Amino acid sequence: MNRDELRQRLTFYRDLGVKEVYKRGRKPVAAVAAVELPVAIPSLAPAGDTLGKIREDIGDCRRCRLCEARAKIVFGSGNENARLVFVGEGPGADEDAQGLPFVGRAGQLLTQMIDNTASKEGIPIRRQDVYICNVVKCRPPENRTPLPDEMEICGEFLFRQLMAIRPKAICALGSTAAKALLATKDGVTRLRGHWHKWRDIPVIVTFHPSYLLRPYNQNAKREAWDDLKKVLHFVYD
Ligand code: SF4
Repeated sequence: MNRDELRQRLTFYRDLGVKEVYKRGRKPVAAVAAVELPVAIPSLAPAGDTLGKIREDIGDCRRCRLCEARAKIVFGSGNENARLVFVGEGPGADEDAQGLPFVGRAGQLLTQMIDNTASKEGIPIRRQDVYICNVVKCRPPENRTPLPDEMEICGEFLFRQLMAIRPKAICALGSTAAKALLATKDGVTRLRGHWHKWRDIPVIVTFHPSYLLRPYNQNAKREAWDDLKKVLHFVYD
């Protein structure tokens, strides 16, 4: 591996939240320090990358253990030139069956949130105008949280999707998406209400719709609607 390839690999790990890498027989080297050189962060995406090419590269993917129980790979859906991309955690049962993201109860809530907030705020968009995808493309068994190595492997495709679309903003739905994009251990409550960045793209973090479906989360619902208003006005005003 040459110097540029090493830097690119370390940047990728840093984006995924990995703070240290080990070389056999040596003390840990800080990955963050290693990439904080005065250089432009290289793109991980091949030149001329497109969503079609990324889907082709995924193929009938067996790169991580999540392939074992999946029915369908859930790549993403929506406008390929979207100015706003929503990133969730991973497919659930309905998504796994249909091969489409956010089509179950949580997905219906997300659709309502986007459509109703946009309409109330006078912003002429609907769900089909944004792009929606997940950190991992295959359903974790029993809907468990994806493991770090699964997020690392599949995260490569998410990052390529984001680089190919290059939206004006990203909305991270829930703490797994926030972790993948921002390399943070903080939860949604701490992260929401402020702007963050993935590369040079502004990111807003809000609650995952499945969390909002729980009956005792009335405050979180209000806050999620506020977050959505904020990001919609930022992108479309
Ligand atoms: S989760 Fe991603 S990396 Fe793992 S098998 Fe599915 S598509 Fe491949």
